[in-house]
Amino acid sequence: MAELKTKVPKDEALYQEEPRAGEKCEACIHFIPEQSACEIVAGQISPDGWSRYFEPA
Ligand code: SF4
Repeated sequence: MAELKTKVPKDEALYQEEPRAGEKCEACIHFIPEQSACEIVAGQISPDGWSRYFEPA
């Protein structure tokens, strides 16, 4: 699956490599675990990461 060019850069998404207040990508509806990717944020995404677009799955 090709990565959309419209994804949000990590800095703009306030992406960080650590969970925040118990929230993390692994528990987010936008996480794509088989690709270590996110539907919204561009680049390699950690299951333990977090961004401002977090939504509980
Ligand atoms: S939206 Fe944010 S918290 Fe959710 S998977 Fe993507 S980077 Fe992680």
